[in-house]
Formats: sequence, C-alpha cells, structure tokens
Amino acid sequence: MIDMQKEEWLSMMLRELPDRLLIVNAAGIIVDGFGGASSSTSLTQSQTINHHYRQLLSQPVADTFTTHLTQALTSGQKQQFHYAMLACDQLQMSIKQLEAWDGEEEKWFEANLKPITLANGAQYVLWQEREITQSYLKQVELTKLAETDELTGILNRRAFMINLERAFNQPQPQALTCLMIDIDHFKEINDQVGHLSGDEVITQVAHLCHKMIRASDYIGRLGGEEFGIVLTDINAIQAYDIAERIRHAIESTPCHVDEHIIYPTVSIGIAELNGQVCSVRELLVQADKAMYYSKQTGRNQVTLYYDNLPTIKTNAKLKAKILKAS
Ligand code: GH3
Ligand code: MG
Ligand code: MG
Repeated sequence: MIDMQKEEWLSMMLRELPDRLLIVNAAGIIVDGFGGASSSTSLTQSQTINHHYRQLLSQPVADTFTTHLTQALTSGQKQQFHYAMLACDQLQMSIKQLEAWDGEEEKWFEANLKPITLANGAQYVLWQEREITQSYLKQVELTKLAETDELTGILNRRAFMINLERAFNQPQPQALTCLMIDIDHFKEINDQVGHLSGDEVITQVAHLCHKMIRASDYIGRLGGEEFGIVLTDINAIQAYDIAERIRHAIESTPCHVDEHIIYPTVSIGIAELNGQVCSVRELLVQADKAMYYSKQTGRNQVTLYYDNLPTIKTNAKLKAKILKAS
C-alpha cells in the first residue's frame, strides 16, 4: 500500500518537473520522457516517445545535438549547450500547441546531456531541456548595452578593441585594414553651434560611416569625434577606395541642426594588418599616424600608411604642452 503511494508520488513529481527530461538511446531514439510542466515545448508523450530527436529539432540544432550526443557517449562527460527554436521548427506540434507557442517568437533553451550506462552495458543519454528565453534575452540586452556607444549606437571603444584583438589573435588572421577617422575642426563646430548640436554632427558622421561598410566590417567610437573602422578581407588599395567614398559622403551630406547647416569633413588614416605589424597597438599607431598626416597636409583627405610616411612636425605651441615622461 505504502509502496503504491510512493509510486504515485514519484510519477506525479516526474510529471510536474518544470524541465523536460527525455531518455535518448545511443541510436537517437527517445525511449521515455517526463516533466516539462513549465516548458513551451509541451509535446505529449506520443509526440516524443519512439521518435528520433531529429524529428523534434530543426536541422542545425539537430546537428549540434548529434555532436554533443556523440561526445557525451564517448567521453562519459555531461554536455551543455544552448539553442534557439522557432514555432516553424515544431513539426510535431498540433495547431493548438502552436497557438500557445506565441507566433513566430524565437525561444531559447539550455540542454544538458548526461550519459548513463545500464548494468547490461546499454548506453543512454538523459536529455534535460530548460527554457531560458527570458534570461537569455536579458543577457543579450546587457551585452549589447555594454558594447554600445550611448550617443551613436555604434560599438564603444572597449568593444571595438576587443573585436580587433580577437581578429588579430586568430591562428590564421584574416586580411584586415583599419581606418582612423577624425572630424575636422570640431572644436569650432562645438563653439559655433553648441555641444548638443555638436553631438548630432558626431552621430550623423557615425551613421554615414556605418551605412557604407559591410555587415562583416565594424565601426567603433574611439573618442569624442574619432572613429575606428575595421574592413575585413580587402587589401589597402580597396580600403583606400572605401575610405575615399566615406570621406566624400560625409563632405557632401549637410547636417541640419537647429537653424544651422553644417558641412562636416573628416581626415582619414589607413593601416593594413600585414606580416610586419606585431600588435593591434602598432596597427592603430600606424592608422593614427596616417590620419595625422591627412590633418597636417590639408584635412578632408585620406592617407594610406607606408613605412617612410613623413612625420609632420607639431607646431611649437602644441609641443610646449607635451611633457616628457622621464
Ligand atoms: P582637428 O581638425 O585637428 O581634428 O581639430 P578639432 O577641433 O577637431 O580638434 P580635436 O580633434 O582635438 O578636438 C575634438 C573636440 O571634440 C574637443 C572636444 O571639446 C570635443 N568633444 C569631445 N567629445 C565630445 C562629445 O561627446 N560631444 C561633443 N559635442 N564634443 C566633443
Ligand atoms: Mg579628435
Ligand atoms: Mg578633430
């Protein structure tokens, strides 16, 4: 009598488990399932049991699942991974279940695959699936906030540097070129139209630059009115053409702020990541040096860094303000 009650408690507890628990055999067939009370993927037993996991997941997720399943079975170690699912991936669901899913909304899940070997040697994996949509989206939002420049919406300096360092440290770094862009005579713009209108000029320049690069490239605000762009998989000559187009677009797009029409211009320096560049810092120094050359030889122009690029002397007044560290 007591045992029967215990069994009832146990089956009730398994049914009420918030996460979905599925037992998958080594061939990928789901042999039993429990729980999932709080899961959006509220499939019935008949929709899961005796089905292959590929029938429940989209192809890319199923491929990831296969990798982790194989690893769990061969290493004996628990595997964890995250994946997204759309309502259209849910081929097993009834119309009623799909309605409860909330349209096309993407849902995120964490899967834990725990390998189990029975006394007879048969191998299974306990697949625990937890819906993490809310915490995942919160995390994405926080990461985005931490990477974004508040004024312009492009990457902030820190995120730009992290991306560049990551690209530089790849075992086989891809070809990339760095553009350093600084708005000309910006102090004057600020003085004439005010700091807030100056902010609008910074934003417009950032958006124009952003519009002119590909999705694989990226732009960051490195300082007040200074931007860095990384162009991937192109050489310095192609980068020069893009920089020239950016320069021209900025020069020919007036910025309307309050009752003013401002025609900002920019000076651009370009440096290419090649075998001789030993660090991200060196690449940025080269791009900065080329940008400075653009400034000192007339502004509103593009300079490509090369080894013997002349160093333009700073004026005496500026020099007097710079003290030697030692
Ligand atoms: P140059 O052509 O040599 O670059 O001259 P410049 O006047 O642009 O000189 P510089 O680049 O040294 O000056 C940048 C100015 O940008 C100084 C600072 O007051 C202003 N600034 C820095 N951050 C901001 C910001 O967030 N908003 C606004 N409106 N101005 C900023
Ligand atoms: Mg500046
Ligand atoms: Mg400037």
